[in-house]
Amino acid sequence: MAGTMLIGGEWVTSVSGNTQDVINPATAEAFTYVPSANMEDVDKAVAAARMAFRNPKWSQMRPSHRQRALLKLADLLESNIDEFAELESLDNGKPVMMANRVDVRSSIDYLRYIAGWATKMEGRTVDVSFPRPRDGGGYFAYTAQEPVGVVGAIIPWNFPLNMAVWKIGPALATGCTIVLKPASETPLTALRLGELILEAGFPEGVVNIITGSGSVVGAAISSHPDIDKIAFTGSTEVGRAVGIAAMKNITRVSLELGGKSPVLVFDDADLDAAIAGATSAIFFNQGQACTAGSRLYVQRSVFDQVIEGVAARAANMKIGPGLDPTTQMGPLVSQRQRQSVCNYIEKGKKQGAAVLTGGSCPDSPGYFLQPTILTGMPQASDVVQEEIFGPVLVAMPFDEVEEAVSLANDSPYGLASSIWSNDHKKIHRVIPDLQAGTVWVNCHNLLDPNLPFGGNKLSGFGREMGRAVLDLYTETKSVLMAV
Ligand code: NAP
Ligand code: MG
Repeated sequence: MAGTMLIGGEWVTSVSGNTQDVINPATAEAFTYVPSANMEDVDKAVAAARMAFRNPKWSQMRPSHRQRALLKLADLLESNIDEFAELESLDNGKPVMMANRVDVRSSIDYLRYIAGWATKMEGRTVDVSFPRPRDGGGYFAYTAQEPVGVVGAIIPWNFPLNMAVWKIGPALATGCTIVLKPASETPLTALRLGELILEAGFPEGVVNIITGSGSVVGAAISSHPDIDKIAFTGSTEVGRAVGIAAMKNITRVSLELGGKSPVLVFDDADLDAAIAGATSAIFFNQGQACTAGSRLYVQRSVFDQVIEGVAARAANMKIGPGLDPTTQMGPLVSQRQRQSVCNYIEKGKKQGAAVLTGGSCPDSPGYFLQPTILTGMPQASDVVQEEIFGPVLVAMPFDEVEEAVSLANDSPYGLASSIWSNDHKKIHRVIPDLQAGTVWVNCHNLLDPNLPFGGNKLSGFGREMGRAVLDLYTETKSVLMAV
């Protein structure tokens, strides 16, 4: 099925016949190709999703059935863990051990979690200030949660399978249908998931997966008049364009965007734990995580000890091809991404940063890059303010609690943050003041299916995961009956 995508239950080529290469970031070589769709393909996919939404096979499928099909999908994924982990590693570059332990397993967990919601949707009976039925004739009111309809989903390349199930899972649990566009760099696990979705028994057209460029396929989805809800995860810049396009049709939209998450280490913290935590907070997934702890603020009395500890761990990370099971850090996803990260490192140096470790930009064919730590730059510099989305940590000292909070909040983003301290009074003082969708305490980058996830400020709006995600995929219908 190389060169095909999923529309209306069929594996099809693009209308134009155009394709795009898929590249292995560890070697810079193309190893397969996928269709490069255009607006016509998007129209076909949306029409298939619309038809499926009206198809009684789907619209009248009982919730317990939807739940069972989602659980079956999770089981199918579980019986193919190794294959999915290898595919993800090959496509994205990430270490296969991490793809296995994190990406694939958490996708399975999420599918099982969201499957349960299919049978737990509910509305409310509502008191209204009219005569009530029991007063001898009157009015009865209730609300029902209904699927929004056809969902258009656009996802990034950093956690391709996770991002696909974060969109497909709630769409299926609530009875929506979906057109999903994976990132051009990483289309493979979403396509393979499409095969399992058909095998799990979802009717044709309920899930459509189409590949192609963001500027063509992504833009066509964002502005499509027959899509009822757009779910976007990606950069703030593209998210803004997607939101504007959606709003022209008054289409619901949720945006999970970039981040520049602060890690606050106080002098009373367990410093060994903080050092290990701060290291993985930034270097996990080659720093290509929206919640990456990319700004490290350490209380001055322990600053040297903490950053030297993080630097020592970073310098010891084993860099190599993702498919090597001993690799701790794989290549970045693309040459474009590595170049962009390197440009930031150079800019940081020009704006006064000192390089504590890493800092060089290799010219290797695979997109490898050493973990890099920069210190000594002003808070206003670009490397502190902008999302780099790579293995680059900026570290700065602070003196007082208030200063730590104001430095943490001095960012256009508000996705996540972490506090490292053993002083509960201090922790509870800081939590409410942090402008972030998630606050971790003595941990970082831990997500749970039941815990809502999303951003504030330029990190976007809407919460995925947990009960909160159901609001994004359902609409409330209010019913008032004269009895
Ligand atoms: P991106 O450039 O914004 O791309 C994301 C998706 O949007 C891709 O599928 C892309 O397609 C598509 N796209 C590009 N241009 C488009 C357009 N004009 N209209 C509609 N869609 C378009 O982001 P990225 O570089 O792939 O991913 C990294 C970003 O995602 C980071 O900023 C990161 O923080 C963010 N992110 C956020 C979260 C979160 O939950 N908040 C999670 C993960 C990542 P192509 O691939 O074909 O260009
Ligand atoms: Mg690739």
